[in-house]
Amino acid sequence: MDIPFWSKEIETLDRASLQAIQLERLRDMVSWALKTPFYNKKLSSVGIRSPEDIRGFRDLERIPFTTKDDLRRSFPKGLLAVEMTEVVRIHSSSGTTGIPTVIYYTRDDVDRWTDLLARSIVATGASAQDIFQNMMSYGLFTGGLGLHYGAERVGMAVIPIGGGNTKRQIQTMKDFQTTILHVTPSYLLHIHSQFEAEGVKAGDLALRRAFIGAEPHSENTRRKIDDLLHIQAFNSYGLSELNGPGVAFECVCRKDMHLWEDAYIVEIIDPTTGRNVEDGQEGEVVLTNLIRRAMPILRYRTRDLAFLHPEPCECGRTHRRLSRILGRTDDMLIINGVNVFPSQIEEKIMKVPEVATNYQIHVDKKGALDRLTVKVEIYPKLFLGDVAKLEALRARIREELRSSIVISPNVELHEPGSLPVSEGKAKRVVDERPKD
Ligand code: AMP
Ligand code: ZN
Repeated sequence: MDIPFWSKEIETLDRASLQAIQLERLRDMVSWALKTPFYNKKLSSVGIRSPEDIRGFRDLERIPFTTKDDLRRSFPKGLLAVEMTEVVRIHSSSGTTGIPTVIYYTRDDVDRWTDLLARSIVATGASAQDIFQNMMSYGLFTGGLGLHYGAERVGMAVIPIGGGNTKRQIQTMKDFQTTILHVTPSYLLHIHSQFEAEGVKAGDLALRRAFIGAEPHSENTRRKIDDLLHIQAFNSYGLSELNGPGVAFECVCRKDMHLWEDAYIVEIIDPTTGRNVEDGQEGEVVLTNLIRRAMPILRYRTRDLAFLHPEPCECGRTHRRLSRILGRTDDMLIINGVNVFPSQIEEKIMKVPEVATNYQIHVDKKGALDRLTVKVEIYPKLFLGDVAKLEALRARIREELRSSIVISPNVELHEPGSLPVSEGKAKRVVDERPKD
């Protein structure tokens, strides 16, 4: 097999040299982290006051974990390590509980991140000959702009169409003979379901690959995408705290994702003890960013569950492979690629005076897409009023929710006592999406 590379030397570096780079970059990151009030306090508390205090990998374990709550508590600038004038980009995580998580990048940070994406794209066999339709949303979410920059660096023709508007997406694929899509797996399946209605015939499209990510999906879903669209789909993993996409990406072998270890230190830990587990064992993914100076992040607990493959990949890359994301340690839901915490929903609906005490969050599939329904109990006297008033209330709750969670859920109004009550811990979330 002909294996394509973007930066072959670094991608196939022997492990000892790779670790030497990691250690050197870790020290650099610690020196930047110490400039921030947050890490200065955190690192000093364990006796790390200068980069020289990191003598080897054993010292990595002395560094306390960083959590999403830490980031929220440091909002907006507690983790900013450079002057604001040096910042060229700000992103944010899609799932927040009120206070957003904000990420800063300098010009060099964006440049290093872009390079990882170029590397990821080329690893799939894509090249400057390709026409790239970027269907991920642009804006604060890192998925849109991240891949956009990487694709331009590779030299592909980039169509920055963004998310939504299925008709236009399909027309664009036809008009420009798009060869690569970047999209969530659920939206891609939805798009396919509309091919017939849009009159797409065999031979109309030139699709060859899709980069799919932002939400969990199984090997079966990937196969379904491959078979239905006659393409090859590649899994793409990342999170805004660690720059965004380009943390791990599948190569042409498509046997899970190379995690770029010159840019990130990956640890898999037992979520209860916090101790590292062996390669091959499932646990929580913990990542240290080695390439972002504007906002260093050390030992970030992603809450994503996965494992590292112990054996090397056939492509010759030495960077270890991360499995598919197998679950989460928290209750975060991913609805069509958007992160949603049940607490965000609760916070909003409980502020609505008409809402009584019980509610339920329901998730299922309508066709290929996820569907979110929020069922709320409202006070009985409201049901005596006219229908128009109830409809207005429903619309108001829906709008309140949309302003917080970005997506617009269905809202159902119920009489008090009609939603199930559990005797122990309330079961607020019913997720009926099939686990294939
Ligand atoms: P965000 O910070 O908004 O980009 O969201 C990042 C989260 O999306 C990750 O922590 C994962 O839970 C999820 N995610 C991203 N890519 C994938 C993927 N390829 N497979 C499964 N989950 C993913
Ligand atoms: Zn490989």
